[in-house]
Amino acid sequence: MMEQNWPPAVEFDADLFRQIAATRADILARIASAAQGVGREPQSIRLTAVSKTQVPARIAAALAAGQRIFGENRVQEAITRWRGTRESLPDLHLRLIGPLQSNKLAEAMALFDAIETLDRPKLARLIADSALKTGRMPEIFVQINIGEEVQKAGIPPGEADAFIAACRGEYGLNIAGLMAIPPVDSAPIPFFVRLREIAARNGIEHLSMGMSGDFVSAIACGATLVRVGSGLFGTRV
Ligand SMILES: *Cc1c(COP(=O)(O)O)cnc(C)c1O
Repeated sequence: MMEQNWPPAVEFDADLFRQIAATRADILARIASAAQGVGREPQSIRLTAVSKTQVPARIAAALAAGQRIFGENRVQEAITRWRGTRESLPDLHLRLIGPLQSNKLAEAMALFDAIETLDRPKLARLIADSALKTGRMPEIFVQINIGEEVQKAGIPPGEADAFIAACRGEYGLNIAGLMAIPPVDSAPIPFFVRLREIAARNGIEHLSMGMSGDFVSAIACGATLVRVGSGLFGTRV
């Protein structure tokens, strides 16, 4: 059944479209120049537009500007916003970048193309079981608590190798990447470098790191996905 929440009930706003299209073009240009600055292919870096809490008009403008990869941090909000969109947008790509509760796992596995926040053994087991049952397996990233902050989710850096090995060995998961959010109050580069080192020694290809304020440095440190919210859409409501 077609869901009735898409296209969103918003009028096309030409000014908003021009503004978001220009901002997106600027971000893509900065991504390309950051990549070239360190001898990397600009196409090796994907822009995730973090659409959490944004109003439908801004998201519609980003879609009209050609953006297809979106990041959400709450499963329920993502379902409300994106459910029913795939018929009209087959190339839409949705990434979960916020914590995943076990009771939302089935819905998350059905909706998302990538889950960036695998952060505990129980979740690894549930993901593996769900994929066996449904045949659907999103890209899986392990979240690392790179600054070892008590308030943040993620595997502590010192336990990362063992956790990744268990995900692969015990649960048969393909770990496509690592994700981290460095501490807000310190320079992010040492944390980006540390995340890259964990990925390198574990043979992991993708690094989701860098947000509105620091995606250029993250690319210099090896990011393959950057997560930009307010820098693209404007301040969250
Ligand atoms: C909100 C959020 C972002 C985007 O942050 P901005 O500073 O608005 O670009 C990126 N990553 C995660 C995990 C987030 O929750």
